[in-house]
Amino acid sequence: MDERDKRRVGEQIEPGGRSKAPGRLELLQRFVNTWNHDFPTGWDRIGTPAKARAWLLQKRLVSPPVRITHADVARLRELREAIRALIAANHGTRVDADALATLRRESAEATLQVGFGAGGATVLRPLARGTDGAVAALLGIVHEAQLTRSWPRLKTCRQCGYFFFDRSNNRSAAWCAMSICGNRTKNRTYRRRRAVTR
Ligand SMILES: [Zn+2]
Repeated sequence: MDERDKRRVGEQIEPGGRSKAPGRLELLQRFVNTWNHDFPTGWDRIGTPAKARAWLLQKRLVSPPVRITHADVARLRELREAIRALIAANHGTRVDADALATLRRESAEATLQVGFGAGGATVLRPLARGTDGAVAALLGIVHEAQLTRSWPRLKTCRQCGYFFFDRSNNRSAAWCAMSICGNRTKNRTYRRRRAVTR
């Protein structure tokens, strides 16, 4: 994958040609994948106040007029990693304690309202504006996902932390794409084994 394609990963491109997460989960997926651990920090789509503002506006998580500060960026990035850790626990591990503390702190402040759409379907709507509203909306999606059968299909790549939706029957996928991280992990294991046997 060349750099131009790599920079589109998480928005226009899903590694391994997977389909994106269904429904509102797509928004949560895009948020967690605004950056992953394989990319330079400069590629972070919410890495500066201007970038975060543009991204949140594009996803309709905030509406103008809105001001995003450096503190908001730090808060959003911390939330992103906490949600990533929560999803990583789907591999059968315990949720990271720091991540859980972040999620609890944010949820204690978040306010959501049960709304009804045109067809009578309920929807969780944030009451606050700005970053507070965006954070609440994202936590609402986490909650909705946990109520459905989709939740166990949420995975993070063991290598790069990319958040993907595992549609395989036995939910056995471990890497964003075998061609990217799967082979890298295997090559590393192979090299390590060779080093040991030499
Ligand atoms: Zn990966």
